[in-house]
Amino acid sequence: MASRERRVKPDPSLFLEKVLPWVIEKDIRKIAYWGGEPIVYWKTIKTIQDAFDKAGHKFDMIKMATNGTLFTEEHVEQCNEWGVYTILSQHLDYGVPAWEQVMKLDKMSLSYLFHHDELYAWDWLKRCQELEEKYQRQVFPFMHWPRSTEGADKSSDLTHEDLDKHIVHLWKLAELAANGDRFLQGMWNAHLVEWRQKLDVGAEAVPMCYGDHQIDIDLDGNRYGCHHTVEPWLKTGTLWDDNQNPDAMKQVRRFVDTKECQVCPIKTWCRGNCHLSRTHDVDCRLSKYKHKILTWLDKRMPETNERIYKHD
Ligand code: SF4
Repeated sequence: MASRERRVKPDPSLFLEKVLPWVIEKDIRKIAYWGGEPIVYWKTIKTIQDAFDKAGHKFDMIKMATNGTLFTEEHVEQCNEWGVYTILSQHLDYGVPAWEQVMKLDKMSLSYLFHHDELYAWDWLKRCQELEEKYQRQVFPFMHWPRSTEGADKSSDLTHEDLDKHIVHLWKLAELAANGDRFLQGMWNAHLVEWRQKLDVGAEAVPMCYGDHQIDIDLDGNRYGCHHTVEPWLKTGTLWDDNQNPDAMKQVRRFVDTKECQVCPIKTWCRGNCHLSRTHDVDCRLSKYKHKILTWLDKRMPETNERIYKHD
């Protein structure tokens, strides 16, 4: 993650000195780079990855979320060499992805965000088809839903009225997946695999983005309650001394500790949803609908040998 002070000149020296040995000692095998836009910090990412390579530490997954506008041949070659899984999150306000480069990435999913003005995926699916035809390679669409955090545009928040329409559409997409549509199978399988892994009725739920499963840090090893922000009020401590900030921890557990979530049968999968959300009741209702759809799909999803791109 990039902190505000480091946007101009990120300094990985503390990471190399203190965080890198910690990662190796704990045998952590998944790493994700988040921005802003990670390609802006490419030199720092390369310094870190080269240091892990030199230390002989290999990752099972290196993940990067980018809008793809700054990709050059050098980035593509390096990402393919490292085996990076790129999530292409499209924010057209920041420009168009460098498709000629992006489409040479070995492991990449095209991320589609449903929101208030995007309740239906039809145009997106058509676009994926066109990209496949133009670049003569398979693309792997992924679908997700907004986190209505303070930094997100309020006008894109999902409403209950949106859900009334959107859920009907999701059922239609699930039927297409069950009938073997490759794009829809991929889009649902990513969620189905995670749902199967996480759903554990009766077990304790951990917050969505905080726990042993996810450790969000800045370059100095400060730990935060969310991978989208390094605001001081969400700093929970450091890698070496966590749980220092009760207010941040209270925020992280804001929903998962409520009575409603604690008795919810799907809490280990949903995990209370995003603790920074201003639309919690909509998020909760959507989770319950998605659970119904995934339960239905669980028995009907055809077997596939296609790659499944999950975001977790
Ligand atoms: S579905 Fe609602 S009640 Fe259940 S865990 Fe998620 S947010 Fe909590």
